[in-house]
Amino acid sequence: MRMAGRPSRTGNHTRNGSQAGAGDLLELVRRGRAVTRGALQEATGLSRATVGQRLDRLFRAGWLREGAGGPVGSPLGGRPSITLEFDGSHAVVLAADLDTRHARAAVLSLTGEILAEHSGTLVIEDGPEPVLAELGRWCGALLEKAGRRAGEVCGIGLAVPGPVDRETGRVVQPPMMPGWDGYDITGRLSRAFTEHTGAAPVPVLVDNDANLMAYGEQRAGHPDCAAFVLVKVSTGIGAGVVVDGSIYRGVDGGAGDIGHIRVGTDALCRCGSYGCLAAVASGGAVARRLAASGVPAASGSDVRELLAAGHPEAAALAREAGRRVGDVLATVVTLLNPGVLMIAGDLAGTPFLTGVRELLYQRALPRSTAHLDVVTSRLGERAGLIGAGALVVEHLYAPERVEERLRALGV
Ligand SMILES: [Zn+2]
Repeated sequence: MRMAGRPSRTGNHTRNGSQAGAGDLLELVRRGRAVTRGALQEATGLSRATVGQRLDRLFRAGWLREGAGGPVGSPLGGRPSITLEFDGSHAVVLAADLDTRHARAAVLSLTGEILAEHSGTLVIEDGPEPVLAELGRWCGALLEKAGRRAGEVCGIGLAVPGPVDRETGRVVQPPMMPGWDGYDITGRLSRAFTEHTGAAPVPVLVDNDANLMAYGEQRAGHPDCAAFVLVKVSTGIGAGVVVDGSIYRGVDGGAGDIGHIRVGTDALCRCGSYGCLAAVASGGAVARRLAASGVPAASGSDVRELLAAGHPEAAALAREAGRRVGDVLATVVTLLNPGVLMIAGDLAGTPFLTGVRELLYQRALPRSTAHLDVVTSRLGERAGLIGAGALVVEHLYAPERVEERLRALGV
């Protein structure tokens, strides 16, 4: 199995054996591995003059600045050096997280601070055209609210509740997104952004919502965890896996789609099959059972509200759903041996977590759970947004893209 880990860039050479470029220096600063001129010289083997030339380009682009921390001792001795840091305010990112019946969007700084945010009703079953057109309108309004120009936007990140083909940014047979299969999401959202802001098109990156929530949560709260799993249980069920700091997507973007693992019931799932986990243990499934007994509920967010109000039947069904999910997670944990298993989404409260723990610890091998933390979300409903913003920044400022972008800026 090939994991999408980031190659090490320490030592005197980049991974190609060539000299370190401006992008490699930026990467070292952004990761905090080398934050002075002297440390960059030592890490790359470049001369002081060459490091200076490359840093000058990054300063002229506005991507680097001198740190507020003041001078620190240099590893090469001599005068204390000025620290360098990534300037997270020289551009902004737009991020959006689509759920089945509502959406959330924000303007973020490059270091992940939310500068303006909006959430509202957007029904994914209405299809991609009206939903993405409306998101474009939100983008324009959000930039105004944040007081930022559309020309400052460097990219857009979008989280969707379905499996995404990484190459094309299109969703592949998504049970929760009728009408979206194979649709050109990136093209349409890029056009909607241009229509509502008048700005030139920017890169649009689309990924699965559980992947992006996992990415956001791992970076924010568990940066040292080398194997991180997040399970989102809302109207559907999905999981995101972050290994060595990178999202693990599998060959076709299908990794983590645990909602359609068969658990041996005769319930019909939205995917068309019988007996899927999501058909009996998702927020949608709990809502259907509540509705059948006369409690008005149609979606995961309705169940969330009932749980928050302490509704006893909703709590009992959530615990039962937690046991079902915990049984499947025993297998997930045995396969991946994660350090953190985070339970997120509409059902992620005490009754559901109790159910998960009951079955997980009973069924998983003790060695797989000895160092496992089962936790709830830290970023809450913003996890997908923050993950989507981070995905865009990591993409655009990756060493392999920096040279081309600097040339386009004329520096
Ligand atoms: Zn299914």
